[in-house]
Amino acid sequence: MWRKLRIALLLLILGIAAYSNWYDRYSTTDWDETLWIGIFPINADDGPAGNDYIAALTGEDLADIERFINDQAREFGVAIARPVRVDLYPEVHEKPPPHEAGGNIFSTMWWTLKVRLYAGRNSHPPGHAPPQIRIFVMYHDPSFNNSVPHSVGLQKGLVGVVNAFADRSMTRANNVVIAHEILHTLGATDKYDLATLAPIYPIGYAEPDLQPRFPQHFTEIMAGRYAVDAQTFEMPDSLTDVVVGHATAAEIRWIRP
Ligand SMILES: [Zn+2]
Repeated sequence: MWRKLRIALLLLILGIAAYSNWYDRYSTTDWDETLWIGIFPINADDGPAGNDYIAALTGEDLADIERFINDQAREFGVAIARPVRVDLYPEVHEKPPPHEAGGNIFSTMWWTLKVRLYAGRNSHPPGHAPPQIRIFVMYHDPSFNNSVPHSVGLQKGLVGVVNAFADRSMTRANNVVIAHEILHTLGATDKYDLATLAPIYPIGYAEPDLQPRFPQHFTEIMAGRYAVDAQTFEMPDSLTDVVVGHATAAEIRWIRP
């Protein structure tokens, strides 16, 4: 009985999700009104570094994300004055469900569902209107760990979970990862080779026509790295050196392919 009830509930949720996925896809990429994006900070390890970092974090620290997306949108002919608005929301104390790398399709689906429910519970703080896109940023103390788990952005559910560093000197680099996951929620796909991390030519190159091809100077946002030469790929320090390429612009419907 309990098992049947659980299955019925799961099917009901999946049915609602299928409809809302379609609606979300079109309402977030029609670019006729400002899309509202909320950044929700989380202290990943409950340590003092995360506490201090989040206490000092202001909207100004995140402002280059909005500036980057809006400047790039304008380059591709999006006509409205403010295509996206990025707001800092209050700290969230519940941690997102852990994402196990290398899970099968069912464990991934189950995790996706849990993240959507998590986002629903945690994106309506009192006194704030809920945003359309919810990005939960887990700030990790770099002295505990100098690498962090993979970040994820889901178009189905309009939610992202970003793993970042609780270190002031990393704020601008963190913002590159946040912008990458935001564009995933809008339907952009990765443009790097998952095995080698090499940007994929030409779609993952900011300047595919550059002669000679190397070194590249700018990073395509969904490639995440730029090619210094054919074997060396570097991450950008900030969004200043990042662009949205044509393939990504078509995926998020800034241009029609
Ligand atoms: Zn990605």
